[in-house]
Amino acid sequence: MSKEKIFIFDTTLRDGAQTEGVDFSVEDKNKIAKVLSEVGVDYIEGGWPGANPIDTEFFSKPISLGKSIFTAFGMTKKTGRSAENDPSLSPLINASCPAVCVVGKAWDFHVKIALGINNNDNLENIRDTGKHIVKNGKEFLFDAEHFFDGYKSNPNYALDCLKHAFDQGARWIVLCDTNGGTLPHEVGEIVSKVTKVIPGKNLGIHAHNDTENAVANSLTAIQAGVRQVQGTINGLGERCGNANLMSVIPTLALKESFNKQYDLNIKKEKLPTLTECSRLLDEILNRKPNKNLPYVGASAFSHKGGLHVSAVQKNPKTYEHVDPKSIGNHRNIIVSNQAGRSNILSRLEKYGVTIDSKDKNVQKILDKVKEREFSGYSYDGADASFELLANRLLGKVPEYLKVESYNVSVSKSEKILTKANVVFLIDGKKIECTGEGNGPVNALDNAIRSNFKKVEKYYNFFSDLKLLDYKVRILNTGTEATTRVLIESTDKTGVSWFTVGVSPNIIEASFKALIDSLDYKLYKEKAPANLNEE
Ligand SMILES: [Zn+2]
Repeated sequence: MSKEKIFIFDTTLRDGAQTEGVDFSVEDKNKIAKVLSEVGVDYIEGGWPGANPIDTEFFSKPISLGKSIFTAFGMTKKTGRSAENDPSLSPLINASCPAVCVVGKAWDFHVKIALGINNNDNLENIRDTGKHIVKNGKEFLFDAEHFFDGYKSNPNYALDCLKHAFDQGARWIVLCDTNGGTLPHEVGEIVSKVTKVIPGKNLGIHAHNDTENAVANSLTAIQAGVRQVQGTINGLGERCGNANLMSVIPTLALKESFNKQYDLNIKKEKLPTLTECSRLLDEILNRKPNKNLPYVGASAFSHKGGLHVSAVQKNPKTYEHVDPKSIGNHRNIIVSNQAGRSNILSRLEKYGVTIDSKDKNVQKILDKVKEREFSGYSYDGADASFELLANRLLGKVPEYLKVESYNVSVSKSEKILTKANVVFLIDGKKIECTGEGNGPVNALDNAIRSNFKKVEKYYNFFSDLKLLDYKVRILNTGTEATTRVLIESTDKTGVSWFTVGVSPNIIEASFKALIDSLDYKLYKEKAPANLNEE
């Protein structure tokens, strides 16, 4: 039996672009469209040509997107003019793309309040716009805005709106839950009724996430008969976002209740590009990736409890609903005070350290991690510090930066002045580094990094080092407040590493994390040891 096809329509560049704080450049749009075409989505909605200069430019020349259909977005014509003479429609007809998706009202309340026209005028606008687009040789998709609310208010009118578009040759009629307030059981009931009027093979769903049901609503709509799903990468979209395609796609592809019945044009071997696609969007938006995203988040396959970890090592199926590799993600074993030996062992294995599980050193590392965690350290997300700690205990890390002393002073006369001084002992020689900054940590960092040249032996290793992020947490463990500092660093390889420092004093905590970062860089590049005489 041949399976029915489900089509994937991405609207990250149109609906997603309407999110607060999101401003895609033409170059950003090109990058995102390219990765979406590599994933193999069926439609890529690029924006609204004519509505703003960026979208107009984006649609001005043809773009090569493999099998994905490049789609422009627009609105039905205005009342009182013909579709031919509506200036907002001509950019859609002239756009370099084969398909046009037009939004129109399907809720009588909106027709009256938002447009201020009568129901028949709205139907005529839908009909004439559809006719005009089809006549000009474009594939026509109709987004029925507020369809579910419209159906609840006036089902006959809402269905009439759909029919007026469908009768003009719309390839797709997309049922939109624009306010995102419809619940899965309602979507199921309403879509089943719609399929009696418009065939399911021509129906799509466009769900918003205002009750956190956008993905559930999309899946329910498919079960009730629709064959196209609209959504965005990571669920990007205004308010609470759109349906998250990074969850919809793997669910359809990997879950038996869907994949035994339906097929996607996205090939199974392309699914591992999803994690990369998700991270690329965050990188473009300069946002920290949400670790907890299903399927593609960094924590989606993280295991922390000791019992979980030992079971996962026997068989990953014990605590994983799908294989992380299938969507390009990976398993992550977190070290914590709940950790047993198995955690430590698999973490060491990750860094290429093979050690017998009965080796005394495993207990030594475990004890040290527990002791440190008791004082406020957390190695969750501080991989580099963990790697250094473990390998130091195994005697695999030579001494690098030996700090003899440091000093930070803050003074204020007209403005605040922060000075720092760090003395290193390298190969028996004292090296003094002095610097200023806008705060104590910045001053220490500047003191060290603007004097790298003086640390001759290690200068070359530090020339491409960059600090990316600095985070401070005040912990109230025990009787006094303790500070935990996490530093993210990178170099020319583009790979980040994370180090942690803890102390009741914020400067000492920062300094420890900073020195760990520098030591880690030296360790990973196998720099020569510091030869101080004892
Ligand atoms: Zn929307």
